[in-house]
This record gives sequence, structure tokens and C-alpha cells, in this order.
Amino acid sequence: MDTRRIRMDSLHIDRTAIRQAADLIRSGELVAFPTETVYGLGADAMNPEASGKIYKAKGRPSDNPLIVHIARHEDLLRITDKVPPQAKVLADAFWPGPLTMIIHKNGDVPRETTGGLDTVAVRMPEHPVALALIADSGCLIAAPSANTSGKPSPTRAEHVSADLDGKIAMILDAGPVGIGIESTIVDLTDNIPTILRPGYITKDMLESVLCGEVRVDPGISALEHSETTNEGVRPKAPGMRYRHYAPKAELTLVEGKTDCVVEEINRLVAEKKSEGKKAGVIATDETKAVYRADYVTSIGARTDEEAIARQLYQILREFDRLDVDVIYSECFDTPRMGGAIMNRLKKAAGYRILHAGTKSRRQSYGEEMSFHDERIP
Ligand code: AMP
Ligand code: MG
Repeated sequence: MDTRRIRMDSLHIDRTAIRQAADLIRSGELVAFPTETVYGLGADAMNPEASGKIYKAKGRPSDNPLIVHIARHEDLLRITDKVPPQAKVLADAFWPGPLTMIIHKNGDVPRETTGGLDTVAVRMPEHPVALALIADSGCLIAAPSANTSGKPSPTRAEHVSADLDGKIAMILDAGPVGIGIESTIVDLTDNIPTILRPGYITKDMLESVLCGEVRVDPGISALEHSETTNEGVRPKAPGMRYRHYAPKAELTLVEGKTDCVVEEINRLVAEKKSEGKKAGVIATDETKAVYRADYVTSIGARTDEEAIARQLYQILREFDRLDVDVIYSECFDTPRMGGAIMNRLKKAAGYRILHAGTKSRRQSYGEEMSFHDERIP
């Protein structure tokens, strides 16, 4: 199949292109489009065959449900019999925006879209191209990230082309996205609202709007802190159980005070060089100049966490094109989005984290698990 890529300006939407894309969605085809978080791969959410095409194009496991995207609050009533009061409050506060809610589904939503579950994930994106496409199609659009399963989510149309050219009908290209990491997912089907995936909208933001407690799925921290891993604790969102991305080169994160981190990374790089290996470093603007590796890239200023989130996936993709054997990265535990950023980076590193200063390896989880399977057992 020929994949048409149509470039457009978010501020001056090309209505003809949107109409063509909407026609494709209505006829059950796949269209990739920008959202404010990452690019999505869209299909008619209520058409099981169309949803099925998403899984095929991405190589996505069939039990990993899709997020349904809507353009009007009242469209919630097309997917559920009862909108939870908390959903109304959160929608008023954060939609359109990077918040996905899990609610009980009605009989109209095909199980192909929800990976066999009785619940459905729903979000109203903020990107004008996404909203125009959903509204023009008249459909609810199921859209996971528009990457091949296991690769970093696409933050530019070029990333979508690299993964999906020839497999989908159209790509709407509105340049790089604004946020760069996937939406926060909050589950509203339990007594206490529970964050299943951290993102731009934080626990504090949700709590202040709901005026009550919000939990974080214990399965997320169980994965991140192997020392507390309890066999029975698994992330509730099926997608959080899969390995997301590992660059071809072995990625290790080094945490600690900045001076110690720089010293430790330079020591590790020298060690690898003496073994004849090539090393890359993910640094910040503040530290870029002090590393002595074959390739050093800055993710942005340490104080600019939005830039760090926006650049993360682009940098991971870039490293795959470079001929390095190992990559060392600083950690970015920034005040607001640090949890969301480190959640993605730790996954990419297979949870290989060194603590600079104590010399002890805090976790070697990734190596032990080795991820032969896509799925974390
Ligand atoms: P993506 O759209 O690729 O960012 O992935 C969507 C994420 O939402 C995955 O982690 C899914 O497992 C999760 N998800 C979607 N629907 C549900 C649901 N009904 N219950 C729990 N997690 C869900
Ligand atoms: Mg994804």
C-alpha cells in the first residue's frame, strides 16, 4: 500500500486533507495523526475490523487495548452507560488534554478495541489536527501510538514513516509534537482513582481537582524497584507490562549527585574504550561539554523538564542510527514530570541503574530478566 504523507500547519488546517483522512477512517482504513502527546495511529473505534488493522500494522499484542479518542464531552455516552461523576470533573478540568480515563464500556464498543476487557480507555486530545479529524469523521477514533510495537513512541511524522510506511493509508504531518510522552492514564473503575501510567498530568494535579486521594498503581513501582517486587503485583494497564523499548546499544542509567554522575560516566566510558568499544552519553546542556565519549547528546537544560520529555524518544531513536555499543544516561528526576520521564527511560534501560558515589549496582533487574519475550513475566 502507498502511504500518503500530507504536511500541514496546525494553525491553518488543510480542510481538504482532513476530509480525505476522515473518509479513510470512515471506510475502515488507518490514518496516523498528531496529538499533543505523541503521534497516534487512528481507526474507527466501533469497527472491529478497522481496530484489528491497528494491531496488525503495529505488530501489537491483541490483549493490549487501544485508547478511544473523542472530540466532544457528550461522546462519552457513546461508549459507556454511566459516566462516573469523577470522569465529569476530570474532563471539565483537563480535556482537551493529555489525560486518559478508564471507565466501564457499553455493549457497542467492540472487544477488539478494548483487548477483550469490559472497560474502555478514553481521551479528548488537544491537538487541532486530531480534533478536526475526529469531528470530521463523525467516528470515535481508536489510536495507540503510531510506532511499531516495541519502538519508542513517535514524536515526529518521520518516526511514523520509518515504522509504518507501506502499512497504513495516510500520515497527517504537523511537525514535532508538544509534550513528547504518552498521556497520563487514570483508572476510574475502582473505589480510589488510580494512575496506571504517569504522564504530563500529575497525581497532585488530579488530587487537587478531585479533592481526594489518587493512588498510583503499585504494579508500576514494583517494576521500577525490583527490590520490592512482589510476584503478584503486575501493572494493571496491559501495555505497561510489555517491554517498551531497548536501544540496540546497551543503555545504563547513572543516578546520584551531578559531579559523581559525570565522574562515574567518564570512568565507565574510559573502561569501555579500553575494551575497544564505542560509547554514547545522554547529557544535559549543563554537562554536555565535560563528557569524553564518542558521541554526546544533550536532552536539554536540566531545569527545562518539558524539553527533556519532548526530546526523549527522538534521542532514543537517534542512538539507534549511531554505531555505539553502550549508552550511559544521566537521570532526570525533575520536580513535576520526573516520574513520567524516568518511567520511560528506566524501561528503555531494562531497569539497569547504577548509583554514582556508592559504586554499588542498585538494580540488575533488566539483565536478569533479559526480556527474551516481549512480555514481562
Ligand atoms: P498507547 O495508546 O500505545 O499509548 O497505549 C495505550 C495504553 O493504555 C496501554 O498501556 C494500554 O494497556 C492502556 N489501556 C488501554 N485501555 C485500557 C483499559 N481498558 N484498562 C487498562 N489499561 C488500558
Ligand atoms: Mg504505545
